[in-house]
Amino acid sequence: MTTDQNKNLFGGMEGGGTKFVCAVGRGPDAIVDEIRLQTTTPDKTLSQAIAFFQKYNLSAIGLASFGPLDLDPASPTYGSITATPKPGWVGTNVLAAFQFVFKVPLAFELDVNAAAFGEYSWIPENRKLDSLVYFTIGTGIGAGLIINRKITHGLIHPEAGHMRLPHDRKKDPFPGNCPFHGDCFEGMASGPALARRWRRPAEMLPDHHPAWEQEATYIAYALVNVILVLSPKRIVLGGGVMEHQTLFPSIRSKVRGLLNGYLASPVLAGTMEDYIVPPALGRRSGILGALALAKKIA
Ligand SMILES: [Zn+2]
Repeated sequence: MTTDQNKNLFGGMEGGGTKFVCAVGRGPDAIVDEIRLQTTTPDKTLSQAIAFFQKYNLSAIGLASFGPLDLDPASPTYGSITATPKPGWVGTNVLAAFQFVFKVPLAFELDVNAAAFGEYSWIPENRKLDSLVYFTIGTGIGAGLIINRKITHGLIHPEAGHMRLPHDRKKDPFPGNCPFHGDCFEGMASGPALARRWRRPAEMLPDHHPAWEQEATYIAYALVNVILVLSPKRIVLGGGVMEHQTLFPSIRSKVRGLLNGYLASPVLAGTMEDYIVPPALGRRSGILGALALAKKIA
């Protein structure tokens, strides 16, 4: 490749608990190369990812990782994974491993924040808005908040997947499976929580199964909390559990019921089909978000 062809070529990495996806390209329709790596040890996985990116002359790399992460640039452990249950990964400094090798700008973000940014950056309909919340509801639950067009950090970063929800133990005696909180949102509504409560994987539960009604109820509680606290202009629901498409109409209708007409917005008055939506990038919000982060800092 000539230098000119390499211009504005970005790298993006989406590091997950089971796999790492690494891509090189310029945008959703211009991916030059991509690999999937099994998540093993930090040394092995990160060195494979680094070797992949070293093949290209990149303008910047966006690194998205499972968390929780230290995202505070002033912290001595900035760039590291903090409290993960994933064996061997606690304290791994993902950013430092890349900084050691690459001299181009590097962005470092929580995976779900990158996914939110991907949906926001690459989708013109979303770019017209100044706020968006992206939830992933799958193996775990997390949320990325775009407020005033920026990814929200804070003391650490928002962990809306662990918010507390009303839990009627008479109707639903399941104690929840979050190792930290028991019956938080993730403890009640993640894929593993569904599997444990109903004794079969979520994807094996048929459409008419009461699991889905209950799942929609918990998700609706969480969304109402987010709507009341942040007043976002759109909510995107991704992740493996949300691939069960019948959840969407059920969640929208329950959100409407719970808000009970209190919020006077035409967006909330209708069917909310443009308000509570599946990810426009499908399963690629995270990796394309990492690429968008690279583009932003290049
Ligand atoms: Zn929790």
